[in-house]
Amino acid sequence: MNALLMVGELYLEGWVSSFIVRNDTISAIATPIGEGALGIVRMSGERAFAIAEQMFRRSKPGPPQSHRIYYGKLVDPDTGEVLDHALMLPFRAPHSYTGEDVVEFSCHGSPYLLNRVVALTWRLGARPAEPGEFTQRAFLNGKLDMVQAESVAYLIRARTEAQRRAAIALHEGVLSKAIRQLSERVLGLLAQVEAVIDFAEEIGELDTESLSQSLQALEGEMELLLATAQVGRLLREGVRTAIVGRPNVGKSSLLNRLLGEERAIVTPIAGTTRDTLEEVARIEGVPFVLTDTAGLRQSEDLVEQIGVERTRQVVQSADLILLVLDVSEGLTEADREILLQLPLDRPCIVVWNKADLLKEWPSSAMLSLKAGDGRELPACVLSALTGEGVSALHQAMLQAVQLHSLQPESILLTHERHAEAVRRALLGLQSARAGLQQGLSPDLIAVDLRSAWLALGEITGETLDAELVNRIFREFCIGK
Ligand code: GDP
Repeated sequence: MNALLMVGELYLEGWVSSFIVRNDTISAIATPIGEGALGIVRMSGERAFAIAEQMFRRSKPGPPQSHRIYYGKLVDPDTGEVLDHALMLPFRAPHSYTGEDVVEFSCHGSPYLLNRVVALTWRLGARPAEPGEFTQRAFLNGKLDMVQAESVAYLIRARTEAQRRAAIALHEGVLSKAIRQLSERVLGLLAQVEAVIDFAEEIGELDTESLSQSLQALEGEMELLLATAQVGRLLREGVRTAIVGRPNVGKSSLLNRLLGEERAIVTPIAGTTRDTLEEVARIEGVPFVLTDTAGLRQSEDLVEQIGVERTRQVVQSADLILLVLDVSEGLTEADREILLQLPLDRPCIVVWNKADLLKEWPSSAMLSLKAGDGRELPACVLSALTGEGVSALHQAMLQAVQLHSLQPESILLTHERHAEAVRRALLGLQSARAGLQQGLSPDLIAVDLRSAWLALGEITGETLDAELVNRIFREFCIGK
């Protein structure tokens, strides 16, 4: 127990002292720039109430109470000029977003007006907030852990139901709790090893067998967690979906059909946009970034060559491949050639299109195909023209990338920063266990366990250094 406390304190002390906590008063416009019904200016810090007092006039004077809404006028105290009629929302520390005194003004949503209001707070002693600084203060004041702080940015950027759900799960602390439990167990093992180092005479040798077993169990759980990182990436960036097939089988028609009503909402997704906007279809809230290889045919002579080369490129970077075939023509030689070109390590769905041309709707079971390595590919029969059979394709697409059974409470590693830290923690544990088997000294085992513990703590922020904390928050936007 002593060793456990010692290790914890040592690191936490170092960590806390590496931050200079500033409590000067910051302010920013918290709503997007653009005309709207309302716009919010937010202030946080020691002088927030004093500054608000100078620039907000209400009918009943006296110190405002926390968590009340006041109606009044925003006034330039030097000239007496009325800037706007507004609402003031005061939050006394520590019961506020940042944990400091916070005052929000809910004004009319004119960018010009909001700029004047925020400039006035600066003239009266606040300073412009840096990107993410409100949330950074919330983190430094212990209101949020790092995962929850990051989830704020993630939630703000959520464009689909699945992204919103994943972000709110992070915010509710689902992942933080799982990480803390793992971290405590690592710390418990570290304490055992440290105890043997410090009190060898009383305690005796390390129980290698039981320690190895505990390590192995922990490794297994971390591996399961790591397996969710791929799902997390797909949710964050969208499932890159390549629609391939020879000319005229109906690839563009299928693309339009999948986009459906969403066609009008063309959104770039971070990390997938290169020189063009890719089109995003949302299927049960999961984003699929569709790339059609059709529009690239330049001249009839080059059809084969360019088609094959381009298909190869698109397919190499895809998470999911839809191979479109014309069911009224059956499998042609050109189809077979494309089929054999498909990478073997990627999920692929065979889409038999133009089923409306057949007298009888064929069963997809009869039309399944084998990939180059002999694995059976799931098949769907549909008509891009009429839309019949498309919902079965939706399900097949979700299933192919294992996004069909996502539960709101699923623990997911949606951020690469988190996945990378879990990977390092896992390496630490593996190395500790290998060391045990080789009979290395407890000191060396402790080094590995400590590095695993530190890596896990980086996720929730407990062991992150100030430099990294700053870097993470700078990726936020101003006013957050
Ligand atoms: P792509 O070259 O693979 O992109 O194929 P297109 O989407 O341009 O379609 C080629 C032709 O097939 C067009 O005339 C489409 O109207 C037609 N087509 C596409 N899908 C269907 C379908 O499900 N049923 C029928 N009957 N025609 C289709």
